[in-house]
Amino acid sequence: MKSLYYHSTRSKEEKLTFSQAVIKGLAQDGGLYIPETWPDFDFSSQEWLGLSYQELSLKVIAPFMPEIKSDDLSKALNSAYDSKFSDPKIIPLKPVGDVHVLELFHGRTLAFKDMALSLLPHLIQLAQKSSTDVQKEIVILTATSGDTGKAALEAFSGVSGTRIFVFYPTDGVSDIQKRQMATQTGENVHVYGIRGNFDDAQQAVKVIFSDQVLRKSLEALGKVFSSANSMNVGRLIPQIAYYVGAYFELVKTGEITQGQAVNVAIPTGNFGNILAAYYAKKMGLPIGKLICASNANTVLTDFFNEGIYQKDRVFHTTHSPSMDIVVSSNLERLLFEVSKGDCGTVANWMTALQEKGKYALDAGQRSILKDFYAGACSDEKTLETIREVYQTEKYVADPHTAVALAVEKEYRLKTGDVTKCIVVSTASTFKFSESVLKALDEKVLWSDCTEVERLNALSNIMYEALPGPLSEVLSAPILHLEICDKTAIQSVVERVLGL
Ligand SMILES: *Cc1c(COP(=O)(O)O)cnc(C)c1O
Repeated sequence: MKSLYYHSTRSKEEKLTFSQAVIKGLAQDGGLYIPETWPDFDFSSQEWLGLSYQELSLKVIAPFMPEIKSDDLSKALNSAYDSKFSDPKIIPLKPVGDVHVLELFHGRTLAFKDMALSLLPHLIQLAQKSSTDVQKEIVILTATSGDTGKAALEAFSGVSGTRIFVFYPTDGVSDIQKRQMATQTGENVHVYGIRGNFDDAQQAVKVIFSDQVLRKSLEALGKVFSSANSMNVGRLIPQIAYYVGAYFELVKTGEITQGQAVNVAIPTGNFGNILAAYYAKKMGLPIGKLICASNANTVLTDFFNEGIYQKDRVFHTTHSPSMDIVVSSNLERLLFEVSKGDCGTVANWMTALQEKGKYALDAGQRSILKDFYAGACSDEKTLETIREVYQTEKYVADPHTAVALAVEKEYRLKTGDVTKCIVVSTASTFKFSESVLKALDEKVLWSDCTEVERLNALSNIMYEALPGPLSEVLSAPILHLEICDKTAIQSVVERVLGL
């Protein structure tokens, strides 16, 4: 067995196995875990072409976790990607005009977060099994802009040896997103709306993680904190697989020949999804440009175009709420690449971000970002894109996907690049019915309709029945109504855990 170790983006002193890194979630120094070396893959092999999604995932992720038995991992993948997904292909790829849309929203909670979160509880349980320092209970802390929360609740509800807390911005999620979380059953789940935005929730969770005193008192109770956010490397690695899957689907359907490059366009918030694509490219998958699409929150667009990350700026609430963000956590993992593996430089940038609200790259460092193209799309343009794509292609895109479609188109017009492009679709339109309907039919005042009326209208336009999990959520009783202040997150956690 070839061993593989993980260290923090801010220091190489602590070396952990994948299992240990998944359970810890976030490094003590505030950094994010990354593998020390990268597994080698031969993407020119024919073997990739005959695999199911579960088999392909196993091939991609097993080398990242050598201490976990391949049989166990295979079982985990088969139960993560089973009939919970409404499409047997798990990740269907659909031609839409000039691009191919990779639909990652066919899981239980109708957003791409299901791709990694369906697997994460299994990985945590396998990690516990392979770890010598077994803990009684793993306490998962989750900050969410809407989709991670429900996907994590769904995944961890009733999983023995775990307890999960979710904090979402009470005024920053769609009706359906709120309902999905508020109706979650399970004795091990705790759900809170917060008066604050996603950044406030994420920051509070990071502070709790680096509080040594809290960590010690938790240990004394036989418990340990972990994270279901994309800061957790256990979220990131499984996401690499769907880029490999989508690539070989294009080969299988004759759209490209094996070895030919494709671009990818990704609606981006916390930078987890696009980072997985970057890693796929780093490991040799023929990916050309990585197109990073943002909404009116343009912190990433500005970073890629100007080389400066500036977090003191207005926070916009948009039609694509899962991308409403100012501090994009996973960018720190890309910074590690930009620094050419110099943890000290990464730590300095993060300190500057904390203390001065910004950091800047020099010209040499910026050149490492040449594989990225970054663009932004306003709310108006988002709705216009939904309308246009529906009229020309009869495809209804959710607002997040529309942002990526718009930025991809802008990129193509600007550069004349004719490379085939995979546009990642991150959510079902039914999760954002009000915005989508507003785009498709301006004559009705959709905000005055009930959610059920909106969903039925959308279902009629799309000739598609309401997804099963959504019907369930609509009739389920509301179980969680608690709202707390953004400053009270830590005290809520302490109270519930009896600390
Ligand atoms: C989380 C999310 C995103 C952003 O993904 P990141 O990995 O955080 O960049 C985009 N769209 C939807 C629908 C999401 O739920």
